[in-house]
Amino acid sequence: MERYWNQEMECASPEVMKKLQDERLVAQVKHVYENVKYYRDLMDEKGVKPEDIKGTEDLRKLPFLSKADLRDAYPFGLLAKPLSECVRIHSTSGTTGRRVVAFYTQNDIDLWDECCARAITAAGGTNEDVCQVAYGFGLFTGGAGLNGGSHTVGCLTLPMSSGNTDRQIQFMQDLGATILCCTPSYAAYIGETIHEMGISPDDLKLKAGIFGAEPWTEEMRRSIEKSLGIKAYDIYGLTEISGPGVAFECSEQNGMHINEDNFIAEIIDPETGEPLPDGEVGELVFTSITKEAFPLLRYRTRDLCRLTRGKCSCGRTLVKMAKPMGRSDDMMIIRGVNVFPSQIETVLIEQGYSPNYLIEVDRVNNSDTLDISVEMNPDQFSDKVKDMQKQERELAEAIKTMLGINPKVHLVSPKSITRSEGKAVRVIDRRKLHD
Ligand code: ADP
Ligand code: ZN
Repeated sequence: MERYWNQEMECASPEVMKKLQDERLVAQVKHVYENVKYYRDLMDEKGVKPEDIKGTEDLRKLPFLSKADLRDAYPFGLLAKPLSECVRIHSTSGTTGRRVVAFYTQNDIDLWDECCARAITAAGGTNEDVCQVAYGFGLFTGGAGLNGGSHTVGCLTLPMSSGNTDRQIQFMQDLGATILCCTPSYAAYIGETIHEMGISPDDLKLKAGIFGAEPWTEEMRRSIEKSLGIKAYDIYGLTEISGPGVAFECSEQNGMHINEDNFIAEIIDPETGEPLPDGEVGELVFTSITKEAFPLLRYRTRDLCRLTRGKCSCGRTLVKMAKPMGRSDDMMIIRGVNVFPSQIETVLIEQGYSPNYLIEVDRVNNSDTLDISVEMNPDQFSDKVKDMQKQERELAEAIKTMLGINPKVHLVSPKSITRSEGKAVRVIDRRKLHD
């Protein structure tokens, strides 16, 4: 039987949810207009007043916020509460430029914990469970979010943080962890290590995994489910909007329910900014309607996906977002063709290879090159050069069928590609370094 953390919200009728969103949106716009000069200026520039926003249908009148705005306003420019009311910050990994810093009041943390509690409950978690949190702790939101959710549900919480894989497995065995929370790439690594240690998934008590913070394919899901003997659930979130738990997967494992009582989702055309109808792929935009300290309105995530509405087989009515295909800035244009790393991952796993790979793109003599190093499983290894070349050609052919362009495939020996304990780095685009 499906269990809910907050049935009233998770299974609300569309009318009840719309009314709640309308009320919360109106109050939030007022709160932001009065307290955040940066956004007030954007609204004034656009000629919008808080009174113009009466419900979700007026959302499109509001200006967007982008990552560039967050950097401009760093560190306090988008803060909507006095610092004395804020209790914590988190920050994105900030690979490019200035970090983004998000602030939380205690109420913001409580609501975030509840979102993660909903995710854990949807994955079958109760206060009988032992929840191993192997997302990183610290400025990253992964560890703190799932840790809070696990406490809220009343699970015995193991705040492991990421890394130290031997100890993870030791604790998993000794304390009988039933739920594992980490990035999918780390879950794959833990699964691989367990097998190397000669431990069978049957020797573990694990039953579910809650994996997110990076894109992963259905093929990767099946591979992790098999290696750990669990059901693997997706979870989505971003620091700017709170952290993990903005959306979570249910037993149907077909898209993630967005916690719409807290976050209003829109899909827009990334070129024109025009809202797109449900079902169409575009950029995901969020408006936080309950956050107090750092309430972003119409924040452009750059994540590409689509929304579907309607009652799910789990009984929830919350709108669902499809697995993001990646961020718009993860998309590579190689010889004029749009390529997502996830497309390559799909082919690799389908063809029986490990999810350990590295994509390298460069430009040589004005032409783009695509090199994919793929780790072999020990049983795929052959000492006959001819056999290896044949395997490389076959894999290159399968990838060409998917992408429409020819890659150069390099099969590399087992264990030669660095494993990830957090978010995996799968692409090196050297063209960006030349620019
Ligand atoms: P950073 O921008 O430094 O990675 P975050 O840790 O806040 O900061 O990461 C949020 C981003 O991670 C999202 O915008 C999205 O691109 C990605 N992400 C999070 N969860 C998922 C998921 N389940 N599937 C795909 N991508 C995800
Ligand atoms: Zn569902």
